[in-house]
Amino acid sequence: MKNKNIYDKIFEKKCNVCGKTLLASKTGNGECPHCGWYNNRLGEINENMVIFPNLVSLNKAKKLYKENRLIKPDLNDFLEAFEFYGETGFEYKNLMFCLFRHGDNGIEMGWGPNDDEVAYFKDKEDFIKNAKIDNEYVRDIWNKVENPCYL
Ligand SMILES: [Zn+2]
Repeated sequence: MKNKNIYDKIFEKKCNVCGKTLLASKTGNGECPHCGWYNNRLGEINENMVIFPNLVSLNKAKKLYKENRLIKPDLNDFLEAFEFYGETGFEYKNLMFCLFRHGDNGIEMGWGPNDDEVAYFKDKEDFIKNAKIDNEYVRDIWNKVENPCYL
């Protein structure tokens, strides 16, 4: 018989977002194969916060699911995820854009085929207001970016 440990996905549980069944670890963590939500305790306690490894809060995910929309972060959710975790990225026009912490509240955004392009922002608000890709504000093209993620 195979040994089981607490990390094995051995418990059935109902997904917090879509209500369908998934297999979770003893601690209740597990990704839902139906809606993609990563069920996890910390995200359940902090239902209005963006908590790794999800990119939107639990309550927002529930709302999006109910409205039959994709569980995808808006720019605010994405930057909240960044603030929580410190390294996030997204793709746009076949380029990868990576955000890193810079100083206390600052954000460094790097991109380019050789990772040689870089821009700095003093905080989240500065990023929302001023971050640009070519001549477009990131906030204006956000619904066209792909694969927002933790790095
Ligand atoms: Zn689900």
